[in-house]
Amino acid sequence: MIRLTEIKLPLNHAPEDLTTAITTKLKISAEQMASFVMFKRGYDARNKRNIQLIYTLDIILTDSDLAKDLLVQFESDNHVKPTPDTSYKYVGEAPENLTERPVVIGFGPCGLLAGLTLAQMGFKPIIIERGNEVRQRTKDTFGFWRQRKLNTESNVQFGEGGAGTFSDGKLYSQVKDPNHYGRKVMTEFVKAGAPEEILFVSKPHIGTYKLVSMVEKMRAQIIELGGEIRFATRVDDLHITDSKITGVTLNNGETLKTNHVILAVGHSARDTFEMIHDKGVYVEAKPFSIGFRIEHKQSTIDKARFGDNAGNEILGAADYKLVHHCKNGRSVYSFCMCPGGTVVAAASEEGRVVTNGMSQYSRNERNANSAIVVGIDPERDYPNHPLAGIDLQRQLETLAFELGGKDYSAPAQTIGDFLKGKPNSELGDVKPSYTPGITLTDLSKALPDFAVDAIREAIPAFNKKIQGFSSDDGLLTGVETRTSSPISIKRNKDFQSINTKGLFPAGEGAGYAGGILSAGIDGIKVAEAVAKSMLNIE
Ligand code: FAD
Repeated sequence: MIRLTEIKLPLNHAPEDLTTAITTKLKISAEQMASFVMFKRGYDARNKRNIQLIYTLDIILTDSDLAKDLLVQFESDNHVKPTPDTSYKYVGEAPENLTERPVVIGFGPCGLLAGLTLAQMGFKPIIIERGNEVRQRTKDTFGFWRQRKLNTESNVQFGEGGAGTFSDGKLYSQVKDPNHYGRKVMTEFVKAGAPEEILFVSKPHIGTYKLVSMVEKMRAQIIELGGEIRFATRVDDLHITDSKITGVTLNNGETLKTNHVILAVGHSARDTFEMIHDKGVYVEAKPFSIGFRIEHKQSTIDKARFGDNAGNEILGAADYKLVHHCKNGRSVYSFCMCPGGTVVAAASEEGRVVTNGMSQYSRNERNANSAIVVGIDPERDYPNHPLAGIDLQRQLETLAFELGGKDYSAPAQTIGDFLKGKPNSELGDVKPSYTPGITLTDLSKALPDFAVDAIREAIPAFNKKIQGFSSDDGLLTGVETRTSSPISIKRNKDFQSINTKGLFPAGEGAGYAGGILSAGIDGIKVAEAVAKSMLNIE
């Protein structure tokens, strides 16, 4: 197959225009082409009046010699290349008489893909997940959102599917992926029921409800392959002898013996971070970000991004990605933008409030939301201890709980009032989507001054890119503190902890991923590393 990249056509082009674009580019007749497959479809909306669709297409020719000739003819054209082989190849296969089973801690995207890949290779992993299976977890989470009853072990952060289960299900990432692991993640998701389009649209997303049933199907596959998954079970201790892992202890007192443990606990497992630090596993503080969720009407964002093409089915609900470098040396950026979604209560500890965002596949809720956050780092903001970032997160989340009225309502303020430094006003046109509810207050008390100053400078700057972004009616809800892990659990090239052999820190919690796709990719890489170590291959 021949891959053509950067094929550009106007937004509302006719289907047959694709064939014409291909035959024109390759200088062939329509009869010489057997078929084509859309590998990617993105868009360029920088010029609202002339939005372009940008395709990557794989072309199958009727004559394989013609394909060879064309590749020679277009040798110097970077947009005409052989289609790469993106199929996944396992690094090995477990022996029939497997004596040791690897343990995976955490069943988020990282643990899920690690567990699935290990199971597919025959390693029969034992997966330990502190939260409940996804249906019960959904009830627990909705119980918090509707009745303010927080289950600290089963919530937005903890439970089957991990942190991304109640999310927008955005499936793109900026990680380099020369081995096409991302393709395996997407292919497994499609097998489990995700829409096929995630394989070709440039910014795929699946939304919350689809994720729930996909996770169940992937769990069933792991079990069918001999894996085991224990829900509502937490790993409370690691056994380390001579700097080597020998097993784990569960919260029910049971011990599992193993020399291979994947630690994929996500960014909110603060007790587990404390435990591994106490056990002497090498941990470093790492930068993360703090801020607020911002909400606008989705129609404001659609109009600003797509102009008269707002509402176009191919474009869907508009997103944005913004960054501003402030006078005080800080950077403010938008993060985890959820078009047509809701702001969610994402706490996992009592007496704390933290926000995040989610949406359904349709993305048709009235508001757009995203985190507007300021980068912070250990040197300046939480020096002296590897876990000091967790203390800072807790401080800010406790403060948000208090500002919200101590009943899990989140503190909020209209953009107009926040920019003017005017507390306690009324809501405008943008209605809050956060449940269980918000309390209008002075959000400048919710974050350190440098962060408030930076966000006050950034919002008007963002308005130059997205008209209406700084309008008075928009709403800020606090606080965002869990943009990424506050620690990094360092590992070697063999994916094992730098001072604890057999411990494979992975995914977002260890600092090796930021999002569903990259966590899944890391899960596959770590599963391969475990397999190689168990099979004694390089
Ligand atoms: P996690 O998903 O956090 O999974 C870790 C799992 O480990 C959890 O299930 C936890 O219960 C379990 N665990 C922790 N400690 C223990 C222990 N001691 N014993 C046993 N189990 C334990 N990313 C995107 O790419 N797109 C999005 O649209 C998106 N939206 C999001 C919306 C929300 C509301 C949230 C909270 C996150 C969102 N993210 C999104 C981020 C994404 O969910 C994470 O990056 C991703 O889930 C990280 O995967 P992970 O497997 O590394 O960790």
